[in-house]
Amino acid sequence: MGRNYLSAAAARAVNPPQSEPLNKRQVKNNAGGFVYAVDDWKRLDRFLILGSEGGTYYVSEHDITKTNINTIMRVVAEDGIRVVNRVIEISDSGRAPKNDPALFVLAYAASKGDLQTRSYALNSLPKVARIGTHLFHFVDYARKFRGMGRGLRSAITEWYASKNASQLASQVTKYQSRDGWSHRDLLRLVHPHFEGAHQVIARWVVKGELEAEDGGSIPRALLGHVAIQKATDPKEAAEIIREFGVVRESVPTQLLNSPEVWEALLENMPLTALIRNLGNMSKVGLLVPMSDASKLVVSRLTDNEALKKARIHPIQLLLAAKVYGQGKGMKGSGSWTVVPKVAEALDDGFYASFKFVQPTGKRHYIGVDVSGSMGCGTIAGTPLTPREGAAALSLVTARTEEEYYIAGFQSKLVKLPFSSKTTLKDAVNRTANLSFGSTDCAAPMLDALAQGIKADVFEVITDNETWAGNVHPMVALQNYRNKTGINAKLVVVGMTATEFTIADPADAGTLDVVGFDASAPAVIADFVRE
Ligand code: CA
Repeated sequence: MGRNYLSAAAARAVNPPQSEPLNKRQVKNNAGGFVYAVDDWKRLDRFLILGSEGGTYYVSEHDITKTNINTIMRVVAEDGIRVVNRVIEISDSGRAPKNDPALFVLAYAASKGDLQTRSYALNSLPKVARIGTHLFHFVDYARKFRGMGRGLRSAITEWYASKNASQLASQVTKYQSRDGWSHRDLLRLVHPHFEGAHQVIARWVVKGELEAEDGGSIPRALLGHVAIQKATDPKEAAEIIREFGVVRESVPTQLLNSPEVWEALLENMPLTALIRNLGNMSKVGLLVPMSDASKLVVSRLTDNEALKKARIHPIQLLLAAKVYGQGKGMKGSGSWTVVPKVAEALDDGFYASFKFVQPTGKRHYIGVDVSGSMGCGTIAGTPLTPREGAAALSLVTARTEEEYYIAGFQSKLVKLPFSSKTTLKDAVNRTANLSFGSTDCAAPMLDALAQGIKADVFEVITDNETWAGNVHPMVALQNYRNKTGINAKLVVVGMTATEFTIADPADAGTLDVVGFDASAPAVIADFVRE
């Protein structure tokens, strides 16, 4: 007994289970397992892309936000300009599902950075706050971080001044208020000295009076917005919509039950609105099988250039694929007949909205963490769980590469018969309905070795909360390399904004990327090709 015990202890000291550290560089994750920590700049990226809304299985929204604020404090103190540049880069390129974390970090830098950082952050406001709603969020955060100082007031004034008359008119009519802030509040606060059309628009916002001044004509968006408020009949409304290019946000609610109104709106509908309103257009009877409307919707959704230009993020299309494909609203109000071509177009759009990826020709083993923790929390505040998102991400590689194998894992392997032909809806539904289980992130490497699967790269999509395995993932990887002679790489796709990773940063054959970063598949492909 004694000798056996010591022999087991000797083995354990060299090859500890995940509940004990493998080396001094490891840290304890939220599940009690030992993993590595990513550096502060990678954590900043995770926060900018995934945010902290909805929390995770282990950590509340409040606590995960707090640890991220600590990271933001450190990076802003270290190099504020670099932080602002990162915010602009990720926000402007449309890499993140939501813009709120970027606005939050920008507001922090504009409040707590050094002098140079503060002014750079404020000057960068129009680049990051591209629509009125963004501006309201930014002001809300900045006011709490620093209060309404002169610098903030002039940045707000500049935001309005930097738009041309027609842009300004559409901003103030389309995004009137949010989070307790309205354009009226902001314009009253900053008292801008505008002239011409800007003055006309500002007066309408503040006083509700619409009159053209000398030389200042009234932009069409504003005329249309005012005209449609008085419309009572759908036919008349549709005419106004066509004449002035009125957007959905301007249309009084009682008119939104009419297919005629939606038909007119659809003609010039921005892509974001189109993707969000598929259900509404179906419910009113406009978007039905074999209709002109469904042809138009399909052609808009398959215009890859337009998707890029409108900064449509893959998650918007994934969410639309899930909701539209189920043929009823999330909140259970109303149902519709799914047009198969529209559903297909959403799937195609999902893949097209990632940065373009060239196949690498390498063999990919894709391990999807489908353990219990992945079924809780949200991705960037959407109604999608990390494991639904992970399932969809696994298909991106399946669509691109010839040689791939997808397996789900908890503490044991879970069969996921996914291929490039699997639809997003099926992948998401299949993973959402799996039972909950404990987690062993070494499972993909152990499975590949046991089955004799030759892989050049392991892509593990996970929240990094591994704890239940007898072998550390890095040990399993090294073992795989030694026994097969393949110098396999490990790519960790992180699905939550924590500091954890199963990849040893000291191993040059590993890479950490952020799940649902629209550029991640391209970054992975470059790394795999190296
Ligand atoms: Ca887990």
